[in-house]
Amino acid sequence: VDSFESPDFYCLDDLLTAEHKLVRSAVRNFVKREITPIAEEYAQRAEFPSHIVPKFGQIGVFGATIPTEYGGGGLDQISYGLMTQEIERGDSGMRSIVSVQNSLVMYPIWAFGTEAQRQKYLPRLATGELLGCFGLTEANHGSDPGGMETNFIERSDYFLLNGSKLWITNANIADIAIVWARNDQGKVRGLIVERGLEGFTSAEIKNKWSLRASTTGELIFNDVQVPKENILPEAFGLKSALKCLEQARYGISWGALGAAMECYEVARRYALERIQFGKPIASFQLVQKKLAEMLTDITQGQLLCWRLGMLKNEDRATVAQISMAKRSNVEMALRVAREARQILGAMGISGDYPIMRHLMNLESVSTYEGTHDIQLLILGAEITGIPAFK
Ligand code: FAD
Repeated sequence: VDSFESPDFYCLDDLLTAEHKLVRSAVRNFVKREITPIAEEYAQRAEFPSHIVPKFGQIGVFGATIPTEYGGGGLDQISYGLMTQEIERGDSGMRSIVSVQNSLVMYPIWAFGTEAQRQKYLPRLATGELLGCFGLTEANHGSDPGGMETNFIERSDYFLLNGSKLWITNANIADIAIVWARNDQGKVRGLIVERGLEGFTSAEIKNKWSLRASTTGELIFNDVQVPKENILPEAFGLKSALKCLEQARYGISWGALGAAMECYEVARRYALERIQFGKPIASFQLVQKKLAEMLTDITQGQLLCWRLGMLKNEDRATVAQISMAKRSNVEMALRVAREARQILGAMGISGDYPIMRHLMNLESVSTYEGTHDIQLLILGAEITGIPAFK
């Protein structure tokens, strides 16, 4: 068995088209070649492998679902999901970059931008010539972004932007930022803020124990004069920002699956090779129980993602369905990673294997784009009609 093949216990491959399989194998080979060999080293050094950005552009993972006329891939949601799955097999930090560029930067420009904004930014974001970031969270407003303080005032020929955003993926390396801020009437709007504008600075958050190969930071706006043509005309209110998060959560549910599949494969192989009490540890019932439960978990997650992708292709996937998949698959991946870590014993904590890195990365994945509990409350609101988080 090729160790990099998926566990596919329910023959989900039968449900994929030739194009899906082609996309998956291209990204899988890319990850094998470009990400897996370096992920641990960059994570240990807490450094972002910036050389990967143009390579992501070349293989077409940026703007995968954006129409080709804007430099995108014009692919369907299953293809995109398979891409994030394969990338997160390598590293969740690398998948985070892809999620941000696709769902949080290219998507809002495509969905809420003017034709001129689409033409100006999308093709260069697709090649990786430009990298973006998404500023919604603030120091005092995480799960409740509706309380945001960042604001802008309309002046005769520009918007004057003030405030700051915290915990922003790519903050210190992004060329453009999609920034959510309140206008004079207190309404939330989206702005495209370019690096280089006076008063726009950023700072890196150090000492993370998670997503160490991805950079996270702060965006600071001090009387920044944003050109008026940089407002996203169709983005009104927080619901537009939440629409972007919906796209990202969809990709994350596939991505988490990738991390789980990698941990499972590593643990399965290790269990067959590691001898204790004169036998491979795979021959002990308790180890088999772990592997059996991991495979069951992964199979359920795969079915969930595939069906959600089909619904999304038909534009029928609801917010609550996406929340269910994000929450369930990230929790599943954390469970699988923890069991894999147990199977590897002491080796489970070593950087010679990817388990501990996946485990630590998934802790962030469980928090960002809406925490584990917030996703549950979105489901609770759907079930009961009563939003408990307000
Ligand atoms: P809080 O909102 O303070 O929540 C703390 C705890 O309280 C959580 O367990 C939460 O579930 C719980 N809680 C809060 N409210 C309720 C409630 N009503 N009922 C029950 N429990 C509740 N943000 C961006 O805008 N852009 C990015 O690119 C980005 N990248 C990130 C990268 C990383 C590595 C990380 C860690 C975060 C990133 N974030 C980003 C921020 C992320 O989205 C927030 O951390 C997240 O929304 C949670 O906000 P918070 O950390 O302020 O936690």
